[in-house]
Amino acid sequence: MTLFVEGDPVADTKAPSGPIETRWDRHRFEGKLVNPANRRKRTIIVVGTGLAGGAAAATLGEAGYHVKSYCYQDSPRRAHSIAAQGGINAAKNYRNDGDSVQRLFYDTVKGGDFRSRESNVHRLAQVSVEIIDQCVAQGVPFAREYGGLLDNRSFGGAQVSRTFYARGQTGQQLLLGAYQALERQVSAGTVEMHSRHEMLDLIVVDGKARGIVVRDLVTGEITTDFADAVVLASGGYGNVYFLSTNAKGCNVTATWRAHRKGALFANPCFTQIHPTCIPQAGEHQSKLTLMSESLRNDGRVWVPKQKGDPRPAAEIPEDERDYYLERIYPAFGNLVPRDIASRAAKNVCDEGRGVGPGGLGVYLDFADAISRLGQAAVEAKYGNLFEMYERITGEDPNEVPMRIYPAVHYTMGGLWVDYDLQSTVPGLFVIGEANFSDHGANRLGASALMQGLADGYFVLPNTINNYLATETFAPVDAEHPAAVEARAAVDDQITRLLAVDGDRTVDSFHRELGRIMWEYCGMERSDEGLRKAIELIGGLREEFWRRVKVPGSADSLNQALEKAGRVADFFELAELMCVDALHRTESCGGHFRAESQTPEGEALRDDENFTYVAAWEWTGGDEPPVLHKEDLNFEYVHLSQRSYK
Ligand SMILES: Cc1cc2nc3c(=O)[nH]c(=O)nc-3n(C[C@H](O)[C@H](O)[C@H](O)COP(=O)(O)OP(=O)(O)OC[C@H]3O[C@@H](n4cnc5c(N)ncnc54)[C@H](O)[C@@H]3O)c2cc1C
Repeated sequence: MTLFVEGDPVADTKAPSGPIETRWDRHRFEGKLVNPANRRKRTIIVVGTGLAGGAAAATLGEAGYHVKSYCYQDSPRRAHSIAAQGGINAAKNYRNDGDSVQRLFYDTVKGGDFRSRESNVHRLAQVSVEIIDQCVAQGVPFAREYGGLLDNRSFGGAQVSRTFYARGQTGQQLLLGAYQALERQVSAGTVEMHSRHEMLDLIVVDGKARGIVVRDLVTGEITTDFADAVVLASGGYGNVYFLSTNAKGCNVTATWRAHRKGALFANPCFTQIHPTCIPQAGEHQSKLTLMSESLRNDGRVWVPKQKGDPRPAAEIPEDERDYYLERIYPAFGNLVPRDIASRAAKNVCDEGRGVGPGGLGVYLDFADAISRLGQAAVEAKYGNLFEMYERITGEDPNEVPMRIYPAVHYTMGGLWVDYDLQSTVPGLFVIGEANFSDHGANRLGASALMQGLADGYFVLPNTINNYLATETFAPVDAEHPAAVEARAAVDDQITRLLAVDGDRTVDSFHRELGRIMWEYCGMERSDEGLRKAIELIGGLREEFWRRVKVPGSADSLNQALEKAGRVADFFELAELMCVDALHRTESCGGHFRAESQTPEGEALRDDENFTYVAAWEWTGGDEPPVLHKEDLNFEYVHLSQRSYK
């Protein structure tokens, strides 16, 4: 069976050249602007109100554009970004510990295992500094140290402290800042807010993105809406694994349906598995909980030296413990990047040295930190995380070590975008976790918030001007054949889902799909396993369309119907993820390929054959997808095998 075919390369035609530190400034200068008086005549749809979408809608509204903002939650400030705990990176060098834009750029390219674009990452590092100023001006209550400066802590993959935080609620505080800015524009009349509306298709007119089809989740009404440009800020697709740290509502529908309309999907198999999550407790669990990576600043990761050691942690003497991260990676210790820490945890559990139910856990121990710093100091830093852990597990981390295990957390893949954050469909821009842009094969901690806010507050509001200033926009409305067709396709899918009237719940299909993905396209992948997964997913997808039971009707609130549409998209995405993982016969970042490892069992990249972005084209479902490659060049951070030893 042909699983894919290779097409022409895809080029980032907006990629700037010249010295890297001047590229962003020059690019902004060379782009065309829209006169302030003309901006209110241009309309922009922004799907998503998380940090990326909220920041973008507020900034575009403030600039004077007419913005229509959409989200499926009841309030924009319930977007998944609110869950982010640990912090946001910025190269402020407040600690005077050797940080700089150059170092953040270097760490992020290296951390992404050389599968991201240098120009994009450098811009991200430059803009990081402005984000903090912007958020402080909004009143975001970042933690401060005694002298009044903003405090910083360390995150994996870095030897400097550059992570700004607000206890363990950084995402919530940042989102409240963006939300206030957004609401200000709502009241000023520049932003129209449409909550509880789900985008179900993209409307493409004369090759340009000109609108969306949405379902009102309360009344079930399907409508179309139009603009001069559409911005997707719809988040990541980690929930394809069913169990993940993402909010239950996170899904791929907005980006997937845009993919079906011509937007290339890049590196779909690049998934981040986070090392510090609460281990799964039972078969019926529907969600996993993250314990912020910031805990690795003070917590020490260990397992017993002896296999199957039945003793409780407190009874295992110091010399019978294996602080394996400190042992294997002495330079970074407990602060190795997430992909390395996750694999190391899996390895010790595979050796039979895991702790807790089923041996799928390792200890994260605060005893040393408590005796060194005192309980009050540890509480001040991590109090709400300790409380959350205790509420879920019934164990107090002040008394016994936490048990943690890796879980799906973030997706580095997403819609392909150029330097302007524009997809391959002109007029369709993609920002935040929904695009593939800046993290390569592994995202360093505290970099997603940085990217979402960089895209939303600073990058998109600059780059979209050039598109709006140089294009012409013919009038378009609900009667346009492209709009009628998109709407009919949405109606048809809803009718088909309800008509199946089978005997299996949507969740039961989703759970089974998730198990297949975790088993074969999770932390470790192999040729054999991926081929098996593709076969299993195809069979399960066929069964879904034969046996799914969606109770209720289309003309009212119907959460089973919402989920069914999302799971139908997850099936198609899952197949593409496996094809992408299968074709990339190297290990890189969070993507570990069993056939490609060093004699010590570390990930082995294949730079000769895989230093590219894999951008996939949808060909209708019956034909295999087409692979378009974008070559990556490294002029400033030289390709080298990563070592955190
Ligand atoms: C538990 C947890 C903790 C994290 N902690 C950190 C951290 O400390 N630091 C860090 O840097 N990163 C962290 N991350 C990652 C980070 O939170 C996310 O990557 C980031 O918040 C994503 O922001 P976003 O704006 O791209 O998308 P989201 O916040 O996911 O927002 C998506 C928006 O799109 C809307 N939407 C989606 N689809 C549709 C549709 N079809 N129609 C209409 N609306 C739609 C939703 O309603 C929502 O408003 C964490 C992630 C998790 C899961």
